[in-house]
Amino acid sequence: MADNILEARGLSKAFRGFMAVQDVDLSIERGSIHALIGPNGAGKTTCFNLLTKFLQPSAGRIVFEGRDITELKPADVARRGMVRSFQISAVFGHMSALENVRVALARSRGGNFDFWRSERALSVFNDRAHELLYDVGLSDSVDVPAAELSYGRKRALEIATTLALDPKLMLLDEPTAGMTESDVARIVALIRQIRSGRTILMVEHNLSVVSGLSDRITVLARGRVLAEGDYASVSADEAVITAYLGS
Ligand code: ADP
Repeated sequence: MADNILEARGLSKAFRGFMAVQDVDLSIERGSIHALIGPNGAGKTTCFNLLTKFLQPSAGRIVFEGRDITELKPADVARRGMVRSFQISAVFGHMSALENVRVALARSRGGNFDFWRSERALSVFNDRAHELLYDVGLSDSVDVPAAELSYGRKRALEIATTLALDPKLMLLDEPTAGMTESDVARIVALIRQIRSGRTILMVEHNLSVVSGLSDRITVLARGRVLAEGDYASVSADEAVITAYLGS
């Protein structure tokens, strides 16, 4: 039997009677890269918000690491290891890349910022922060204020701050949105590199990114699962082709 890190059953969300997500089943296998795709308005973002508990489902259950998390708060879900990479707005522009990662490391320890007062703790945090910045290719930008980084580099920093929380399941929200081709290639390489020991669920519009990275793909349309499988099977699916052409 598959070892699923996350399972959602019958997940639904109504906004004043409008079903944005309806009866969605989702199984994310441990160690896989799973993509959630679909035309605009398909319900991808709502699904992400439901899984991370930023939204409370109208119906359905969510099980993470064998525990029912349906009633938990976002912070509790994150503490258990399901972490969503936020859009750039969550990166503090006036702080350096290094400081941003240090803050994320402090958050991963329950928001304890005492390390700033202890030299030893500070040096452990610094070492780990440098390591993470190295991992995402930002070693040369350690002291650069985040606001001065290029768009692609900000996204890399955002991934470093997510990695600082040591996620078991990482949710990436359109990791290549708005990027130049060379930045896209860099982020794809980075995602390949950080997948080791982790499971990644991503919403992504760029289908060449999806085809190159994903082990499994769930296609949503109008709030429902339209198809699921590897890239070859979903891209040949008549219903998927029709949904994309119609969007
Ligand atoms: P996607 O991310 O696939 O583009 P969304 O999950 O953002 O889709 O939206 C799915 C549908 O739900 C859309 O029709 C959207 O207008 C609607 N929707 C999303 N959030 C809300 C909300 N807070 N209130 C009302 N309708 C919403």
